[in-house]
This record gives sequence, C-alpha cells and structure tokens, in this order.
Amino acid sequence: MSAFFGGKRKNMRVLFGASKIRKRVRALARGIVRDCGGGGLLCVCVLGGASLFFADLAREFDGASTELDFIRVSSYGGGKTSGGAVELTAEPAIDPRGKRVLIVEDIVDTGRTLEFLRGYFLGAGAKSVACAALLDKPFARVNAERAEYTAFTLKDDAFAVGYGLDLDQRYRNLKAVYALEDGAK
Ligand code: 5GP
Repeated sequence: MSAFFGGKRKNMRVLFGASKIRKRVRALARGIVRDCGGGGLLCVCVLGGASLFFADLAREFDGASTELDFIRVSSYGGGKTSGGAVELTAEPAIDPRGKRVLIVEDIVDTGRTLEFLRGYFLGAGAKSVACAALLDKPFARVNAERAEYTAFTLKDDAFAVGYGLDLDQRYRNLKAVYALEDGAK
C-alpha cells in the first residue's frame, strides 16, 4: 500500500469479510421487503457510520417502493468513547408523517441513539418505525432497544471499523469490518 493511503494497517483483525457482508445484506433486504408486503418504506441513513451499509441495502430494494433520506446525530465523544447524550445535528429532508420508517444504523451499542431516533420519528408522526443495524453490540446496552433487523452480532466487545465505521473519521472506506486491537491508531 502506498504512503498516500496511510501505509500498512496494524493491529486489525477481520470480523466480517466483504463477500460475507454482501450475502448477509442481500438476505436482510429480502426479509425487509417480504415484511413490507409491497407497502412503501422511508429508509433513513444515520450518517456517517451507516453510509456504506445503507447504499448496499437500498440497492437491494430495487423494485420496491422506497424513499431514501439522511439524518445525523452525535452521541460520540471522539476516539473510542461514547458521549452519552444524543443530539440531532442534521435533520432529514422528507416529512415522515404517516410513513413506515426504516432507520438504517451502523451499530446498536448502548441503545441510546436508537431510542432517541425512534422517539424522534414517532414524535414526527411516522406510522411505524423499525431499525436495520449492521452490527449489534449487546454488551453495553442501557435500555431494551433492539434492532428489528441485524446483519451481525459481535461476540466480544471489540471496537469495529471499516464498511462505514470509523475511528476519528478513518477507515470508513474499507470493504470489510475489522476489530481494532488495543493500541491501534
Ligand atoms: P449507541 O451507544 O447510542 O447505541 O451507539 C452510538 C454510536 O456509537 C453508534 O451508532 C456508532 O456510531 C458508535 N459506536 C459504538 N460502538 C462502536 C464501534 O465499535 N465502532 C465504531 N466505529 N463506532 C461505534
């Protein structure tokens, strides 16, 4: 790898490879379309961690009646720490009133972000709200939140990067999901 792209990757172990992710995303999308029974869906990408997952998932909804929108929240103090309080930092453009909303999240960790987002969309008049999450990290959960659709569940409390997931805005473009070992930068 050239120095331009940041040199060698250190202390990273593959959790989910690109072809495994592709297959899992396709299966997840099939389940979602089946559950929708031909009804329309407003899919909302939670930026930026869900960006690649969202793009791949939405492509699999080809033919289904789907609107795509984006939201940004901050819950996250930078580095590997989770901030606690969740704040909306960019509003979606499409009015969710009367619509079935699918929140597309990168990770459900403490569950605070998902709790906030469900409240936000239900408060804005959505007919129903469900969540598709790339990763479930059940270890730090502080509430009863659970995504209706989960691609992968982590078996240990690793810090994940790649396929949209970052550490201080790095690693999002990687095709696989990796665990960053302690000390990795
Ligand atoms: P929450 O704790 O509210 O469920 O999750 C907040 C956010 O923290 C997630 O949406 C995700 O962006 C971030 N987060 C939690 N665990 C990890 C992780 O292992 N890797 C990365 N890159 N972000 C994480």
